[in-house]
Amino acid sequence: MTAIIELEGVRKTYRSGSVEFEALRGIDTSVQPGEYVAVIGPSGSGKSTLMNLLGCLDVPTEGRYVLAGDDTSSLDEAALAAIRNRRIGFVFQQFHLLPSMTALRNVELPLVYAGVSRAERRERAAAALSRVGLAERLDHRPGELSGGQQQRVAVARALVTEPALLLADEPTGNLDSRSTHDVLGLFDELHAAGRTIVLITHEPDVAARAGRNLVIDDGLITEDRVTAGVVAR
Ligand code: ADP
Repeated sequence: MTAIIELEGVRKTYRSGSVEFEALRGIDTSVQPGEYVAVIGPSGSGKSTLMNLLGCLDVPTEGRYVLAGDDTSSLDEAALAAIRNRRIGFVFQQFHLLPSMTALRNVELPLVYAGVSRAERRERAAAALSRVGLAERLDHRPGELSGGQQQRVAVARALVTEPALLLADEPTGNLDSRSTHDVLGLFDELHAAGRTIVLITHEPDVAARAGRNLVIDDGLITEDRVTAGVVAR
């Protein structure tokens, strides 16, 4: 079985002028299909840097990143953008929905970029919204939805391209406790349905919902532990 993520000796050095800072100092790990992994660590530990690499928004300074069998390490920006669109579904803390568009149009957008026909876009976007429990809200704009519902729309948008990897950056960071519960419940369902999920968080409660926790500190993985996962409903 091909791993979804393989990281080998990954380092990331930021340079500003003559000053260098090594934010990732040698990361080796892999994530298999169907795993639900939380990357957890304190502020400044390198989580966002790792997220940017995993999301093909940036490339390692050293080492190799193989995503679903494709070695991304030597790709140029255009090739990385193509991989991002095809392989990865992103969910962000701030949702990043377009406020003037309906939920349906928001979810259709990645398919517009992928060149899918209008009729198929509508059908797939409606199916994705139905899968996240929003079949009755297709024509609502983000402002007419709760925070939890907006994040569900963002998850539908992430899934509509059938990506290999769902990559979520602090997906509950902007939500009240009820909406957090709602969105984490959705992630549990997606995991149960076989999705591969990597979630970045600094909140232990959120990390505890995943089956596996990668603890990152000072640019290194300091712990890789299997958790009981789920249940605290
Ligand atoms: P986290 O997401 O865990 O808070 P980051 O990955 O954002 O951590 O940052 C890790 C370290 O790298 C921090 O010390 C941060 O100051 C540094 N860093 C992040 N981005 C840059 C950058 N563009 N230039 C220089 N240093 C950076």
